[in-house]
Amino acid sequence: MGLIVQKYGGTSVGNVDGMRRVAERLLATKRAGHEVVAVVSAMAGVTDNLIKLAREISAQPTEREMDALLATGEQGASALIAMAVNAIGGKAVSLSGAAAGIVTDGVHTKAKISHISPRQINELLAEDYIVVVAGFQGQSREGAITTLGRGGSDLTAIALAAALKADDCQIFTDVDGVHTCDPRVVPDASKIDEIAHDELLEMAGAGSKVMQSRAVEFAKKFGVGFEVRSSMKDVPGTRATAEAPNMEDVVVRAVSLERNQAKVTICGVPDRPGCAGRIFSVISAANVSVDMIAQSASTTGTTDLSFTLHKDEFAIAEKLLAPLVSEIGAAAMTATTGVAKLSVVGIGMRSHAGVASRLFACLGEAGVNIQLISTSEIKIAVVVDEAELDRAAQVTHAAFGLATPRSSAQP
Ligand code: ASP
Ligand code: MG
Repeated sequence: MGLIVQKYGGTSVGNVDGMRRVAERLLATKRAGHEVVAVVSAMAGVTDNLIKLAREISAQPTEREMDALLATGEQGASALIAMAVNAIGGKAVSLSGAAAGIVTDGVHTKAKISHISPRQINELLAEDYIVVVAGFQGQSREGAITTLGRGGSDLTAIALAAALKADDCQIFTDVDGVHTCDPRVVPDASKIDEIAHDELLEMAGAGSKVMQSRAVEFAKKFGVGFEVRSSMKDVPGTRATAEAPNMEDVVVRAVSLERNQAKVTICGVPDRPGCAGRIFSVISAANVSVDMIAQSASTTGTTDLSFTLHKDEFAIAEKLLAPLVSEIGAAAMTATTGVAKLSVVGIGMRSHAGVASRLFACLGEAGVNIQLISTSEIKIAVVVDEAELDRAAQVTHAAFGLATPRSSAQP
């Protein structure tokens, strides 16, 4: 018997059947003797439709009203879920983020949670209710409705689990957990049983769309363990926790893929202070975010500087940089789309040598050319031709033995 927070994403509550399934699971959890807090997203597509509608009304809707509008998606879903529970003989109430005591700063569309006062949730739990909280939203100190950034219902669930000192937090979604690679690309990708917060964070940054990054960051900061699992099937999912000692035994936990990247190279950049600064200030002033950056060592007084960015921001970056090339005395700029990023992620890399060589060798044997390389303590990322990404993923996944189910049977 304990307190369980269950979060259901937009696809899990996407239609009436899905909502009934969610209600049944909430009630079954309650009847098994637990206190239950549910956090729900808006029905699939609703948030996007509201955004579209707002843009039809105004080219630049004010962010305050955007938040007031988008929060209705989750409010509707939470009311429907509470109704569905009540319709099958349970006892549930829905709460908006504000009523649930979620207080945020006033930064509309990407507010940060400053604290949670779960008094009302606790009272309702004590009265035996299943409490259904609208995800993705809170209230600023000034009383305005705020939202927590796209995918923010994950953050609501993790933050509530921390504030309520929940015994467990379950993130229900349309896949049965976190996988060693995208199963659509690598058919023998396997579900990961256990993963460290840090690995999940790196994977999110490397293109794996599992959970909102901010939610994982919050979980890490406050030591919230959680499970990502399927709302369709009743099978154990992936458990994300703070790092445990035996987790380093697995060298590479997963291969993450990110498509739709572009690569810019400025050749013959004079090797003197200030050049890189000028290049990247122009880019950041336009709010373009850059991903990988690599610069060659200079032997001849000039260096080549490359970086990647999303292909949607490619045109603007190219336009801004073209005049700068001659201004700083560089030789030329080449820029291409059609590249992608492949990353291997695992905290085991800290204590095992040879990960880079194994990755580069397997790509070489497969005839995949590596265009850029970057590393962090627990990640090695390469940029390859997008047309070769799937094959690169398959050989990398095999080279690191990831098709074997990750289980406690590992040494
Ligand atoms: N409905 C919001 C979105 O689509 C929040 C969420 O789904 O978590 O981003
Ligand atoms: Mg969503």
